[in-house]
Amino acid sequence: MYNGAMTAIPLLQPAAAPDARLSLLDLSRPELETLLAGLGQPEFRARQVWEWVYKRYAHSFDMMTNLPKTLREQLGAALTLTPLQPVAEMVSHDADTLKALFQLPDGQTIETVLMLYEERRTLCISSQAGCAMGCTFCATAQGGLARNLTAGEIVAQVLYFARYLADPSALPATSVQRPTDVTNIVLMGMGEPMHNYKNVWAALRCLTDADSFGLGARHITLSTVGLAPMIERMADEGLQIGLAVSLHAPNDQLRSQLAPINKAYNLDVLLGAVRSYIEKTHRRVTFEYALMAGINDSPDLAQELADKLQGILCHVNLIPLNPIPGSLYQPTSDDDTERFAQILRDGGVPATVRLRRGIEINAGCGQLRRVIAQRAT
Ligand code: SAH
Repeated sequence: MYNGAMTAIPLLQPAAAPDARLSLLDLSRPELETLLAGLGQPEFRARQVWEWVYKRYAHSFDMMTNLPKTLREQLGAALTLTPLQPVAEMVSHDADTLKALFQLPDGQTIETVLMLYEERRTLCISSQAGCAMGCTFCATAQGGLARNLTAGEIVAQVLYFARYLADPSALPATSVQRPTDVTNIVLMGMGEPMHNYKNVWAALRCLTDADSFGLGARHITLSTVGLAPMIERMADEGLQIGLAVSLHAPNDQLRSQLAPINKAYNLDVLLGAVRSYIEKTHRRVTFEYALMAGINDSPDLAQELADKLQGILCHVNLIPLNPIPGSLYQPTSDDDTERFAQILRDGGVPATVRLRRGIEINAGCGQLRRVIAQRAT
């Protein structure tokens, strides 16, 4: 599927040596204050460091010119600001999608994708290295779960691209006019965010906190395979983060084949959690539905889906399947996709077809990591 010569620029870099330092991005503000107080520093230092990191995207303590030099050295010896080392970057041939493969300090790898639209710069971030959910059409699922990302590793993905967008001289060049900023974030990369709830929400608080990264919560969407109890929990968080639920089928028999977590939380339980989320938050929920030829794309299934979603404040986002090499699943044709969408709309359910992005740079979930791993062996 990957066709490098025509469509993408791979920038392979050697993997960095393991870094034993703690990541500053994993420290809360009070923890940083305690650390600095321990170094005999006045109270205002924490605010200075925090601003360098989350407002000015500093990637080294040397940049923090309003800090005493000895302090910069002390901090640099103990802490890192860049827990993610880029090991591959790719730009789509129309220069509107940029994907990075990052190596974590323990050697695990994750992917992050920047998608450039007319009005938005949307970042698709990972929440885990690998995934335990086992969806049968997903590339990430094939390797299983390696581990949860820390809150700092989740935030670091955003800071990396915030830095790229702020810096006109950073390579590689996409079509975007820089300097600019990240306008939207979707948790639709590798992993199941609800399976790493604590760290994901710590990261979301940092990303939305006005004194930290400060992105409006409404510009962030969390996508889940459907861990129903966690959807209920999210409703009580009091942050206006958008919810997307990966549905992919309108009945339990088919959904359990595609997303095995359905055996633990079936459609009635899942839709019950979604209804109660909407009741509490009054927010419209997105249902994602990856269309697979001959599997979940028939007119009957479209009608069954429309019936199932009656009365739910929602919107269906139809995703053209990103085919994984060696997989039995193939994408639905454009005509059948449009037919499926129209049946939903006729049934009173708003439906859109997601733009296909970055397909030639393996921007689908988990796909670049697989290609790189295969090349390395
Ligand atoms: N674990 C979360 C988020 C990660 S994946 C979830 O399941 O929602 C983000 C979206 O991409 C999900 O809807 C997922 O089902 C979908 N997806 C995974 N593999 C895909 C593929 N090969 N083609 C199209 N969509 C895919």
